[in-house]
Amino acid sequence: MTEEETKGIIRKNELLAKGKERKCFVDCCNSMTISSHLLQKNGILNRISHQNHLYEIGINPFNTPSFNFQKIGINKALTFPGFCNKHDTEIFREIETKSIDFKDYRTNLLFSYRILVNELRKKEILIDWYTENINNNELRTHITPDYFYRLNESINGYKMALNDGKYYLKYFNLDIYQNTKNFSFMTFELPFIEICASGVFNYENSCEIVLMPESQPLTDIYFNLLPMDNKSIVIFGVLTEMKNKCWDYIEDFAKGSKVFSLKKVSDLLLTNVENWLCSKSVYEKLKSNETVIVEEIKKTNQTNIERRTLDFNMFEYIDYKKNTFANTWYS
Ligand SMILES: [Zn+2]
Repeated sequence: MTEEETKGIIRKNELLAKGKERKCFVDCCNSMTISSHLLQKNGILNRISHQNHLYEIGINPFNTPSFNFQKIGINKALTFPGFCNKHDTEIFREIETKSIDFKDYRTNLLFSYRILVNELRKKEILIDWYTENINNNELRTHITPDYFYRLNESINGYKMALNDGKYYLKYFNLDIYQNTKNFSFMTFELPFIEICASGVFNYENSCEIVLMPESQPLTDIYFNLLPMDNKSIVIFGVLTEMKNKCWDYIEDFAKGSKVFSLKKVSDLLLTNVENWLCSKSVYEKLKSNETVIVEEIKKTNQTNIERRTLDFNMFEYIDYKKNTFANTWYS
C-alpha cells in the first residue's frame, strides 16, 4: 500500500467519524444533533467577519507545517454537533436573542457550558476516528506499531477527559435547570480586538497531572474572548470548589494594565486555547509571524509545561484602540 493510500484510509475514517449522526447532549433527549455554533454567528462572529469569512489556525496532520492560518466561512466557523434543534434554540435563547448581560451569572454559565459540550463531543469524535484506524486491517499491516501505540494512548487520554467532563457536566446541569450557582466567573473588558475565542483548558501542567491521584478530575478553566460593540469581553470560569487552585492565576489576567492583560491573553491563545478565530485584517497583520505562531502552538503540544510566558506577543502587531476599559466584575 502506498503512503497516499494509507493517508486516504485515515482521511476516510476521519470523515466517517465526523459525519456520524450523534444524539443531543441533553439528558434523556433522543433527537439527533444539528450543527451548532460554539459562538453565535449573529452578534459575535459577524462583528469580525469580512465578506462572511474569518481565519483560524487549522490542522492538517499530513502537511508540513501541520498548522497554518486557514480561511473559513462564517456558517462553518466553530461549529459542532452538540444539540438538537429544539435544545440549541431553547437553552441558548437567553444569550442569543437579546443584548447580552455579562454581569449575569447565567450568561457566563451558558457560554461556558457550550464550551464543555463542544469539547466532550470533539473527544468522542476523535475516539471514534482513532478506533476505526486501529481496527482497520489494511492499516494494521502497513503502519508502524508505534503509530498504533500512540493512537491507543490518545484514546485512553480522551476517555479520561470524558470522565472529567461528565463530572463538570453534572454541575452545569444543576445550575441550568435548578438555578444553583456552582461556578465562579471573572469577567473583564479589553479594548476591541478582532479575535474571538472559546475554549477550556486544564490548569494543571502535564508535570503536575502525573502527581495527581487518577480519581481526581483535572481543573477545568473556561475561557471566552468575545468582540462586542466597542470593546472585547473576557470571561474566565471555574467550578467554585476548585477555585483555591487557580483563582490567583485567573485574577492575574485583569490586575495590570490592558497591555499586560493582552499579552497574557496572547500567551493563552498560543499555549492553551485551541478554538480561536480572527478577522481578515488581523490575519494580514499576523501573517508575517505565522511561522512563530505555528512554532509556539507546536511547542505547546510537545511540552510538559503548558502555562508558559512567551517572548512573542500577537497584540504588538494588531491595531487596537488603546482606550482604558478597566472594568472587572465577578459572578
Ligand atoms: Zn435535544
